[in-house]
Amino acid sequence: MQAEQTRSTGAEQIAWDLSDLYAGVDDPALEADMQRADADAAALDRDYRGRVASLDPAALAEAVARYEQIVELATKAGVFAHLIWSTDTANPRYGALLQKTTEWSSQLEQKLVFFTLEWINAPDDLAHSRIADPALAHYRHWLEVTRLYQPHMLSEPEEKILAEKAVTGREAWVRFFTELMGSARYTFDGQELTQSAVLAKLYDPDREVRRRAAAALTGGLRRNLPITTFIFNTLAADKASDDRLRRYPTWISSRNLSNEVSDETVEALIQAVTGRYDLVARYYHLKRQILGLDELADYDRYAPLPAAPGFYHWDDARETVLQAYARFHPEVAGIAEQFFTRRWIDAAERPNKQGGAYSASTVPSAHPYVFLNYTGRTRDVMTLAHELGHGVHQYLSREQGMLQAHTPLTTAEMASTFGEMLVFSDLMAKESDPNARLAMLANKIEDSFATIFRQVSMNRFEHALHTARREEGELTSERLSAIWLETQRAMFGDSVRLTDDYGVWWSYVPHFLRTPGYVYAYAFGELLVLALFRLYREQGDGFAPRYLDVLRAGGSDWPEKILAPLGVDLTDPGFWQHGLAELDALVSEAEAIAKGS
Ligand SMILES: [Zn+2]
Repeated sequence: MQAEQTRSTGAEQIAWDLSDLYAGVDDPALEADMQRADADAAALDRDYRGRVASLDPAALAEAVARYEQIVELATKAGVFAHLIWSTDTANPRYGALLQKTTEWSSQLEQKLVFFTLEWINAPDDLAHSRIADPALAHYRHWLEVTRLYQPHMLSEPEEKILAEKAVTGREAWVRFFTELMGSARYTFDGQELTQSAVLAKLYDPDREVRRRAAAALTGGLRRNLPITTFIFNTLAADKASDDRLRRYPTWISSRNLSNEVSDETVEALIQAVTGRYDLVARYYHLKRQILGLDELADYDRYAPLPAAPGFYHWDDARETVLQAYARFHPEVAGIAEQFFTRRWIDAAERPNKQGGAYSASTVPSAHPYVFLNYTGRTRDVMTLAHELGHGVHQYLSREQGMLQAHTPLTTAEMASTFGEMLVFSDLMAKESDPNARLAMLANKIEDSFATIFRQVSMNRFEHALHTARREEGELTSERLSAIWLETQRAMFGDSVRLTDDYGVWWSYVPHFLRTPGYVYAYAFGELLVLALFRLYREQGDGFAPRYLDVLRAGGSDWPEKILAPLGVDLTDPGFWQHGLAELDALVSEAEAIAKGS
């Protein structure tokens, strides 16, 4: 991997042009937009405070449109600051703008909160008639979804106090954890490594390197264990009191509400996935045989399979993705192509650029931007396919407007994962060398496992953690480690030997603290796409136009209603079996290739 970084990727000059948002940090239009949003918020308050619930349908539609316009202005300024900062996090002018817009938009949010609160607290009869009124048809789903929080909202002064105290409470603990993990060092061969550097060594082809990297991570996590145990307990207790004050029946209910899925649908997903843990064991038995090991230890999970590493020049990556997209539907390829020709992508690696990749939807009056760190690995081609999938989805859903373009988390990864599937099946169809095919399949299977089985096993850990904290009080490190090992062993069966050292590896996962309950949404999205891909193969060309309609709908209705025209029934517990059957087929294919070679 080191050698590849010195070779030209062709992405060195691929920088985005943000001028569709603002010309730069000094663009007077930026300051003018912020002032306009402040003035519009003051006017909204003057015109509607105390009156939202009594507006007639036409007047309410106008009020919501004005509210939406303010949200759009606020988002545009904030997104621009974030995008430009992420390309050079060491630039003090970018950092200052980001801080300024963050503080400004939190102030603005405070000024706007009355508007949604008054709508949420409107009497049921009136709210139902407004939701059903044709004058408000365009905002129907937003009006509906906002009302769902009614049973869980407190009074305006209470909400303000909770929001203000959270800064030095919950949010401070999360930040402390982030900084603790960021500053922690792990001793590997006498070197002091960061967490991401030591984690990267778990992918090393040399088993001894992997074993020592795992030991280094364990050692570092153990040193901080009294602190992380305290943070986990504190935040679990904080969540318990929040759920009690807001009258959520279970630890996961608030998350399901924001994901727009019922507790039953999530339960059916968890049941279906845990019911197929046998697939995990089957695959890791196969991996052990391919690697020629007597047993697979926890530090062998990410060992690479023997195959020549592929290298993709930026131009080849672009063609690979666009061709796969074009074979699916010309409109999808046409939208994706604009990202290249109109410079909506930042792909170059630069010092002080943020890591990772994302697609930012920005605002409906502009268009999405894609952010990458392109190094030329096969993985990077998949990431390009993934982020462009988001980009196409975000581009098409702009027609729903600021309040309804966004999808809930559960369907947010649909187009991205589907885009990856298109490229994966294209690359597989072109590859005839069995070893390369096996390595590609293994990558795909391991990625899908990471999003489906690993996330659901982590959901089981969270479930046990929150339940135990509520029933047993403060939990010890040993208790947390026992829960972690138990929920991980349930998934791996006898295919991977999980050492006691591995028991403390719950203590660095940020999602558990930052967004409790988040993890299952990944499994939801990935299984949904595997099922959709199966439907696509069955239905052929008739599938794509209906799929495009789904993308265009954005977040303008319930996920189950938006997906229904594709033949998907999210309320059917058996639905998840379609995606799991697709995974089963991938594992069987890998087994067949391994046997033949
Ligand atoms: Zn994504």
